[in-house]
Amino acid sequence: MDGQMRCPRCGEPLSEKDFKGVAILGCHGCKGILVEQPRLLPLVEKVAEELAERVYYEAEIEPVEDPGPVERCPACGAAMENTGYMGSKEVLIDRCDACWRIWIDPQELGNMGLMLARSEQRAGMVARRLAEARERVSVEPRMALTYNRLSRASLLEMLAYYI
Ligand SMILES: [Zn+2]
Ligand SMILES: [Zn+2]
Repeated sequence: MDGQMRCPRCGEPLSEKDFKGVAILGCHGCKGILVEQPRLLPLVEKVAEELAERVYYEAEIEPVEDPGPVERCPACGAAMENTGYMGSKEVLIDRCDACWRIWIDPQELGNMGLMLARSEQRAGMVARRLAEARERVSVEPRMALTYNRLSRASLLEMLAYYI
């Protein structure tokens, strides 16, 4: 990390951050995130856990508009690949195969967490938290929030706290 990396969206310098134990590079301006590929799953798991506490597990995933591909990797300058997260067309992330980093736009992270939470591969702890959240929902139907703009906004608030 040379401190010279700049956000590919808004040009602000990226700075090293710790998101609940996961090292990331974050943009103060737009809350975009650059993460090394091996850290992507731990990062999305943290988000999935966070969402499990406030969002109904089977909430419909509201698609986010992709701001378009990132042409050049902010870390190494190589061309980035605009690719669907977990093979989906709902969330497009930008991947650098030269230095193994991924650019995530802030609106995308919540959807990634929800997609991971729904997937079979979710980690045991995430599954447990989700089960608890689901129980709370069946006990208290008013807690059956949907993952909409409101919950996305609260996730962004949380991100703003860390990034
Ligand atoms: Zn930015
Ligand atoms: Zn790169």
